[in-house]
Amino acid sequence: MTLSERDGKVIWHPYTQMQTSGLPVAIVRGEGARLYDEDGNEYIDAIASWWVNTHGHAHPYIAEKVAAQLKKLEHVIFAGFTHEPAVELAERLLKILPANQSRIFYSDNGSTAVEVGLKMALQYWHNRGQKRQKLIVLSNSYHGDTFGAMSASVRDLFTEPFWDLLFDVVRVDAPVEGKEEEAIAQLAGAVGRDDAAAFIFEPLLQGAGGMIMYGADPLDKMIGICREKGIPTIADEVLTGFGRTGRFFASDYLSNKPDIICMSKGLTGGTMALGATSCTGEIFDGFLSDDKRKSFFHGHSYTGNPVACAAALASLDLFEKDETWKNILGIEVQHRHFLSRITAYPRVRNARQIGTIVAFDVVNEEETSYLNELRDWMNDYCVGRRIIIRPLGNVMYLIPPYCITNEELERVYSILCEMLDEISSH
Ligand SMILES: *Cc1c(COP(=O)(O)O)cnc(C)c1O
Repeated sequence: MTLSERDGKVIWHPYTQMQTSGLPVAIVRGEGARLYDEDGNEYIDAIASWWVNTHGHAHPYIAEKVAAQLKKLEHVIFAGFTHEPAVELAERLLKILPANQSRIFYSDNGSTAVEVGLKMALQYWHNRGQKRQKLIVLSNSYHGDTFGAMSASVRDLFTEPFWDLLFDVVRVDAPVEGKEEEAIAQLAGAVGRDDAAAFIFEPLLQGAGGMIMYGADPLDKMIGICREKGIPTIADEVLTGFGRTGRFFASDYLSNKPDIICMSKGLTGGTMALGATSCTGEIFDGFLSDDKRKSFFHGHSYTGNPVACAAALASLDLFEKDETWKNILGIEVQHRHFLSRITAYPRVRNARQIGTIVAFDVVNEEETSYLNELRDWMNDYCVGRRIIIRPLGNVMYLIPPYCITNEELERVYSILCEMLDEISSH
């Protein structure tokens, strides 16, 4: 039996209709931007394995650091105890995060990093004896799959079975081009509510909502309005962190810095599961008290896992190399050329880019939901040609590892162009 067939008997995969989906491709090895399946086929990973990988697969330097840490200390309880990788990682994150950030809280993934951020903001008010429990969120938001994160996300078909169980939030439009003033006005109204607790947003790029991009200026104004009213702001940088938008964090494009920042995906270079939530001294101080009830009673068994922290430290070492930033800039330039190439296609709309991410909509005459056939057709077209992509409905996008070569990227572009030729000819 092949690995795929064995999988088909025992595994339940994420985001997958197990009755109709075919067997998964079994990957046995990775190197750089390439992955190899059990039959020896070579794939280009054009979406960084669900947006996490930054320096390439099975990176030898990260592997070496992880192996060394494994032999020294694999894990220890993180309440009452600490260890070098966690402390050093917090020190180094605080050096690259916006200067107003002063503490790091660890968790396991993007959703938990968001849960931590939400709970910090909500309990911040509780500790001050104020009943403020309404979150302000953006339209089309995605913050993860746990209940708090689902509540803060758009109500779409993915969360429909749980709608009645999700807590109410106040939604304002994302400040996309042409809607900036409206979005800012809506935000100002929401912040004026006497139960407003916090404003959470994906800075500059709404990923799962459809790779929607918007400018730093309106977001800056929105954060400024929150600051005036003393409402904490939470930047979900789970996707945008670690170079994705061309700078370390999307918040680096802002002059008004968020109070809380959620990180995960690229944090370990895509090697291991780790989440981190940073906050300002003001948020942190809101939990200091002689009263134990004001403590932040949140934690996970693997909080601050030393091996995951070691992977993150190794990844940060690689970010200190000029080469990494040269690669990021190189991808930005190549993407820009690609954008001008594809705008000529009649079925392409809204070709857009931020940093290393390029996206465009493929117009479907019939309808444009995630469930549509065009999406599956495009996915199969590319994967069949050994390019790993994962369209969001009719939205095509690339999020390559930074180590992807010019040739690999050109190969991805040409497959996409061939695909668009084929679609246009129908
Ligand atoms: C992926 C993502 C999450 C959830 O992270 P997981 O590690 O998948 O739980 C949260 N927020 C944003 C913006 C994301 O892109």
